[in-house]
Amino acid sequence: MVAVAYVNGRICSQQDALISVFDHGFLFGDGVYEVVRTYNGELFLLDRHLARLKTSAHMIALPLPVDAAGLDRTIRDTMKAFADGPGSGASNANLYVRILVTRGLGDGSYDPASSPASSLVIIVKALAPPPASAYEQGVKVSLVPIVRNHPGSVNPLIKSNNLLNNALAMREALRHGAFEAILRNYRGDIAECSQSNLFVVKHGVAKTPRLAEGLLAGITRAFIMDVAQEAGVRVEDAVLLDEDVFAADEVFLTSTTREIVPIVRVDDRIIANGVPGPITKRLLEAYRQKADQLTRRPAPVQ
Ligand code: PMP
Repeated sequence: MVAVAYVNGRICSQQDALISVFDHGFLFGDGVYEVVRTYNGELFLLDRHLARLKTSAHMIALPLPVDAAGLDRTIRDTMKAFADGPGSGASNANLYVRILVTRGLGDGSYDPASSPASSLVIIVKALAPPPASAYEQGVKVSLVPIVRNHPGSVNPLIKSNNLLNNALAMREALRHGAFEAILRNYRGDIAECSQSNLFVVKHGVAKTPRLAEGLLAGITRAFIMDVAQEAGVRVEDAVLLDEDVFAADEVFLTSTTREIVPIVRVDDRIIANGVPGPITKRLLEAYRQKADQLTRRPAPVQ
């Protein structure tokens, strides 16, 4: 992997992208982040991602070091540095852009007065999407015993750098040879995956856990709700239990970097007939079409 990063005012290569061990992002995971991707070289739904970053920061009383316009400019400068560097390879490759804001340098105490200046980091690298086989054949996921954070703890609505719970859930899934982990909330209802949202399809209706179940308000999740309407698929948010997943006609996960990935197996249970379903495929096609449409630059006038 060859990445380029912006670190507190400096754009540098991967090996020079360093941050102090006294940054409270490192010491406490005290910070928030976003992951954005490009289609056709253009950032996709950046406005929605920046709005969520602002919300996440607000929820932990973290001042953003720059405004949206400044952030936009810095992201594009970092992307340009990547394009000019050795990691860009095929210039039409899609990019992965991770934006992190942390509490910044402090004295190691929890007193926010000790860390007055937030840190800003932007990482740009080539996007590594799931393999084609994941979309064609579907994936296996694991329903893990790790519980999604209680909203009264680190609220899952905060896209927090404090990802230990997610990492532990994914670790459990990997131990079972699964592509992703499904987590329940503290009540035992289905919440979401370790790094994606979850949908089930039953009798032609796509259902996804309500935000009140304690989960990240996925940008892809919301975008799918828009796209589904145009594609003639009904989507509802609902309370979902294990049985709703096991007995679904189709199950799929969604995220910025993965788009829509069909799930055909949950641990030892095969979902329906074990192949990606028609509604999942229809939504994926509609999603990609819309993403392409929104990012395609008009052809130059001859
Ligand atoms: N849930 C969690 C816990 C995540 O980390 C992610 C990935 N950011 C998602 C859902 C999907 O969110 P999005 O569609 O905004 O990428």
